[in-house]
Amino acid sequence: MATIFSRIVAGEIPSYKVAENEQFYAFLDINPLAKGHTLVIPKREVDYIFDLEDEEIAAMHVFAKKVAKAIKAAFPCIKVGEAVLGLEVPHAHIHLVPMQSEKDMLFTNPKLKLTPEEFKEIAEKITKEI
Ligand code: AMP
Repeated sequence: MATIFSRIVAGEIPSYKVAENEQFYAFLDINPLAKGHTLVIPKREVDYIFDLEDEEIAAMHVFAKKVAKAIKAAFPCIKVGEAVLGLEVPHAHIHLVPMQSEKDMLFTNPKLKLTPEEFKEIAEKITKEI
């Protein structure tokens, strides 16, 4: 069965898209640690990020770099943090989180509750910077 993220790529489940190319897709995390928290995934379904082919994981980071720069431009922060967990969704993904301090990367923090309008606005703001 396809992962929830493959279903997002296929357009079967809605997402707040930030960017995409032939191989990768970036969209807002639905339970964000901060405004601008984005997930970058390969369109090819692979569970564990370190099972990706060398070229694929390298290209994924080049794509994530573009997205991270756009996040920083849209949501000024000290740096955009990168994290890989993958304990919940078995489809490789990179979390990109704008950080004002180290504690913004604590995944045990309470998540922001945003309205659909807010999510849409955030995604558009980042997309504009790409
Ligand atoms: P993890 O696998 O531990 O890295 O966590 C999966 C992440 O995916 C969590 O931060 C979730 O909030 C996020 N997530 C799960 N389902 C969706 C979805 N349909 N749209 C956007 N983000 C999602």
